[in-house]
Amino acid sequence: MKSTQLAQISTSHDYTGATSNPIYLATAFQHEAVGHSTGFDYSRTKNPTRSHFEDAFARLEGGIASFATSSGMASIQLILNLFKPHDEILVSFDLYGGSYRLFDFYEQQYQLKFTYIDFNDLERVRASINEHTRALFIEPISNPQMQSVALEPIYEIAQEFRLLTIIDNTFLTPYLSTPLEDGADIVLHSATKYISGHNDVLAGVVTVKDETLAVQLGQFHNMIGATLSPFDSYLLVRGLKTLHLRMDRSIDNAKRLSQVLNENEAIDDVLYAGTTGMLSVRLNKAYNTREFLKHLEVCIFAESLGGTETFITFPYTQTHIDMPDEEKEKRGINEQLIRISVGIEDFEDINADILQALTKSKAVEVIV
Ligand code: PLP
Repeated sequence: MKSTQLAQISTSHDYTGATSNPIYLATAFQHEAVGHSTGFDYSRTKNPTRSHFEDAFARLEGGIASFATSSGMASIQLILNLFKPHDEILVSFDLYGGSYRLFDFYEQQYQLKFTYIDFNDLERVRASINEHTRALFIEPISNPQMQSVALEPIYEIAQEFRLLTIIDNTFLTPYLSTPLEDGADIVLHSATKYISGHNDVLAGVVTVKDETLAVQLGQFHNMIGATLSPFDSYLLVRGLKTLHLRMDRSIDNAKRLSQVLNENEAIDDVLYAGTTGMLSVRLNKAYNTREFLKHLEVCIFAESLGGTETFITFPYTQTHIDMPDEEKEKRGINEQLIRISVGIEDFEDINADILQALTKSKAVEVIV
């Protein structure tokens, strides 16, 4: 069912019989008279092409409304508008460096408080909740350590204490999980990643199932204006049509790669949750990460994930560059850690490339 839903997502039903949706570039829509509207007035508020994506995406997530934004960070910022100074949010200890950077800024600038915890430690979760706590912000598979969180008990705690549960589901997508149906209140994605799938769109999307939240976020979306362009909205619909095929292939490749790397003496640790196309590895100290990255020929040394190509990222100087060194150290984000977004190429090519780059990155002992 999900494959059919994705393959035929948002097929056009207009008078031409076109099988894909038109891109409405208009920023303004004509009114017949005062008080008469087609439902579209001004594209920041609502655009037909963006609505095609948002409506289809909300159905996919089991929500009632989605809001497409100009980046994943804009989605997170949209959500933060729900909170007031001195509100506190409990956050996954290990998470995307850009989210950490934004939270740090909001803490300094707007007196929101962010407390980082391991959501698998339920006692700690309960002990961290106080009268100011308003929400939980969770990466169910954390970036970059790939730790998975058991969400069921978290939803129960959130309900008990009337906290909003916000899930950054970027690594999983609605193909693999639909947190709103399980108990979450807000789900967001960096749609730049698997949703787009081709490393050519910067986008985010927030989805909710509650009417009040939908109205509030709709107002912020229009008011702030970091909305997604019609062309990018069209590309997201196009990307979604093959999400299931891309995810299946990438997960299959990632599983095989994690097994092979587990056996490799150059790798001290493979961090893999077993359910996604993302994994991280810690290189043994005898191997130089910077040399490894320099010698890649098939895999691409770049800072993103979820596309058709295998991307290898160096969190220490890329995704987590603005995290203070002591915080990086606590999370094991150091010179030996690399993150791999396994693409949909032939497994043999990815594997051979990583092996040859590892061989070339072994430090040569100088004998005097
Ligand atoms: N959330 C996660 C888990 C991410 O990995 C990223 C970006 O890498 C973001 C959010 C931010 O998304 P964007 O880069 O589209 O702003």
